[in-house]
Amino acid sequence: MSKLVIVVHYHELWLKGGNRRFFLSKLHMALKRALEGLPVERILRPGDRLLVEFGEGASAEEAVARIERVFGVAFYAVARVVPRGSDDDLAALGSAAWEEVRGEKFETFAVRSKRSDKSFPHRTLDMEVSIGKYLVDRLREAGRNARVKLNDPDLTCRIEVPPGPSLLVYARKIPGAGGLPANTAGRMTCLLSGGFDSAVSAHKMMKRGAHLNFVHFWGGGAAPGESSVHVARELVKRLVPWQFSAKLYLVPFEPVQREIVARAPEEYRILLYRRMMLRIAERIAHSNRALGLITGDSLAQVASQTLHNMAAVGAATRMPLYRPLAGDDKIEIMDAARKIGTHDISAEPFHDCCPIFMPRNPALHATVEELDKAESALDIEALIRQGIDNAAIERYHYAAGRVEKVESFKSATA
Ligand code: ATP
Ligand code: MG
Repeated sequence: MSKLVIVVHYHELWLKGGNRRFFLSKLHMALKRALEGLPVERILRPGDRLLVEFGEGASAEEAVARIERVFGVAFYAVARVVPRGSDDDLAALGSAAWEEVRGEKFETFAVRSKRSDKSFPHRTLDMEVSIGKYLVDRLREAGRNARVKLNDPDLTCRIEVPPGPSLLVYARKIPGAGGLPANTAGRMTCLLSGGFDSAVSAHKMMKRGAHLNFVHFWGGGAAPGESSVHVARELVKRLVPWQFSAKLYLVPFEPVQREIVARAPEEYRILLYRRMMLRIAERIAHSNRALGLITGDSLAQVASQTLHNMAAVGAATRMPLYRPLAGDDKIEIMDAARKIGTHDISAEPFHDCCPIFMPRNPALHATVEELDKAESALDIEALIRQGIDNAAIERYHYAAGRVEKVESFKSATA
């Protein structure tokens, strides 16, 4: 059986400028970690792509599934491996190319070759012309009138000549996760509710290279099995493979809510809950050296997300507050949730902390001043401390294709 080789193409955009080496080494590391536990023999970097060579017993299906969650990958492909050094390398490449493209639907195609081992006797242009011609003939024989088109063809059949005993042929692209390699942008803290939006929000920022920790506020009163904590944990487990590790802070929120219910006007309750969530999350973010907060707010989706209310709530924190879904509508968000695998987890019924003590007529257009006044009877610092002191912290790790909780402890010094 011939060995498994996967060719990984990355986005070209981040290659501009002096960051190239940094991003490439991060992508290289991410691939290595994503493939941990599989028999990877070596990862080569011939020019503008990576070649992952596997040893005995590697499963293509498993490897493909793992790479699906590596950010920074534009597309990738399982290559056909052609032993080098037969009587006629070009003929061998031609038949492999035919096998590769014959089942595909296309009207125009191009052959592109890359010779990173310059000792290979055929020049790239010669390979492209000769294999292109061979494919045209075979396609004609098969009654198909596909033609060569070098500029923007439907299908590109690629030939690689890496150092070593093998030649590679591939044409069937698998779309990659896109974005920038994991953990290249710094840290952020995400307020993760258990609903659809904040999980999608988190994924969007991870895709830009941010490394997230998560804060979930949970309420009491839930029967076992319906707690939102369980949902938050499952969401974090689903998100961790994209960034390899994460902390989840579980903050009991009912005491804070009771204070707000007791001491603030009813119409502002939800907005004051949100302010307290932001303040506690901000404190946690500082202790993690995170540089931004993330929420799943989407403009005008619910009463607390009018522009007025978001401005009035957001004023409670000085840390930059990112709302990556501000301009997305629910359908787009649900589609994204399905794609990243959080949809079914968020769809589970759970006991949210906010429905209890819901106001009958929530304010739609609160101002900063109104909220400041509404919370003037609260001891805000004490409530923040209480939240922080009672938080439980769980640490998750992704290794060898599995997510595990590696540690859990009570917060004391966050
Ligand atoms: P989601 O689908 O993320 O729950 P949503 O559209 O239902 O969002 P809200 O429930 O009003 O909107 O919450 C707005 C944002 O506030 C959430 O996206 C999340 O970032 C944060 N948030 C709300 N509730 C919690 C919670 N219990 N724990 C952590 N963050 C929360
Ligand atoms: Mg919600």
